[in-house]
Amino acid sequence: MTTRPILIAGGGIGGLATAIGLAQKGISSLVLEKARELGEIGAGIQLGPNAFHAFDTLGVGDAARAMAVYIDKLRLMDALTAEEITHIPLDDAFRTRFGNPYAVVHRGDLHGVPPF
Ligand SMILES: Cc1cc2nc3c(=O)[nH]c(=O)nc-3n(C[C@H](O)[C@H](O)[C@H](O)COP(=O)(O)OP(=O)(O)OC[C@H]3O[C@@H](n4cnc5c(N)ncnc54)[C@H](O)[C@@H]3O)c2cc1C
Repeated sequence: MTTRPILIAGGGIGGLATAIGLAQKGISSLVLEKARELGEIGAGIQLGPNAFHAFDTLGVGDAARAMAVYIDKLRLMDALTAEEITHIPLDDAFRTRFGNPYAVVHRGDLHGVPPF
């Protein structure tokens, strides 16, 4: 077992999640990110219940939920007519069924979630 840190190329969601996961196992890592700062990549990122389950495993679920914006429903629109095709309610029944909410968070805020 090496004591040297594991190098992680990229400080995106995958790289940061890997670093937190390794830290939980007592393994140090060094995240190398080529960008000077996080840009407006999609700005608000949509997070399904499975994302929050993963965040809970990593110990950042409460922090992510605290900064999230909760939306009432997902609407699927016809790009040509602008008519609603269907929608998915994201209310309490949805949260109860899937155990976590569906929400949006600014990507830059998400990257700043303190792990511990
Ligand atoms: C416009 C857009 C909207 C999206 N919306 C959603 C959404 O609403 N919900 C959702 O779940 N997913 C969404 N996604 C997908 C989601 O963003 C990706 O699945 C997720 O970001 C992938 O994480 P990652 O860490 O693998 O890669 P990235 O987030 O792309 O991170 C990779 C990082 O590695 C860095 N890097 C690359 N090469 C090097 C190198 N050689 N050395 C050092 N650093 C390097 C990059 O600068 C970057 O910061 C969206 C994607 C886009 C493009």
